[in-house]
Amino acid sequence: MQVEEKLALLNYKTDPAYAHITIDESICETCPDHFCTFGCPAKCYTIIDGRINFKYEDCVECGTCVIACAHGSVKWTNPKGGQGIKYKFG
Ligand code: SF4
Ligand code: SF4
Repeated sequence: MQVEEKLALLNYKTDPAYAHITIDESICETCPDHFCTFGCPAKCYTIIDGRINFKYEDCVECGTCVIACAHGSVKWTNPKGGQGIKYKFG
């Protein structure tokens, strides 16, 4: 089974009013490596037209990106209570 197939089994309760992870785009603009795009298993980080694009809605809360980014761009918190990913379907 591919990672993408497993991700499709997960259930999310997205909080539209609170992004539990944010990035500093001014830092990302000059990033030399874009390690976040390689580390995130849910592909929340992609490069579109040369700019980093981040969407917290698909996050599986693994914490990889805050470690992978060596430039201090990622601000990581947990979703608010009752929000975020639910693994019981995964
Ligand atoms: S989040 Fe970090 S690793 Fe990813 S593009 Fe921004 S500065 Fe680079
Ligand atoms: S915590 Fe994990 S799944 Fe969420 S954005 Fe970071 S690397 Fe991706």
